[in-house]
Amino acid sequence: MKIGFSFDVHPLVRGRKLVLGGIPIEHDKGLLGHSDGDVVLHALTDALLSAGGLPDIGTLFPDTDPAFKDRESSFFLLVALNKLHEKGYKVDQVDLTIVADEPKLSPYYVKMKKNLSRLLNLSEDRISLKARRTEGLIFQKDKPGIMCFALVVLTSL
Ligand SMILES: [Zn+2]
Repeated sequence: MKIGFSFDVHPLVRGRKLVLGGIPIEHDKGLLGHSDGDVVLHALTDALLSAGGLPDIGTLFPDTDPAFKDRESSFFLLVALNKLHEKGYKVDQVDLTIVADEPKLSPYYVKMKKNLSRLLNLSEDRISLKARRTEGLIFQKDKPGIMCFALVVLTSL
């Protein structure tokens, strides 16, 4: 059994679409990033790479590479999963905590979980997903953002 942990954070800005866990979220702002800025998939991908003893997401997919500009982040996740399979690992469990003061994310839990289950080829009862607010203690009103923590467990194929 292997355990991996990571987190990611991006600023929320106007003029960008908000995508979390590969699901479009209704909001007047989106996450700024070289790719689609999906913090959930970035934290998850990085935790998986970490568990597999692989280089981190920024090393594998540098944000200076135009090939990754505005890329759907599911691409990074699928590449990481392939690398894990090559090393003889499969995903056993995923625990995700999103940290955001806006927007309200609970209406999207079901959709996000379904999509993660599809991408990971893992049953939904092995995936935990929830969101927490910081009440302005982490993100300031004029500088909003979204953060995600990811913990994963791998087992041998
Ligand atoms: Zn990121």
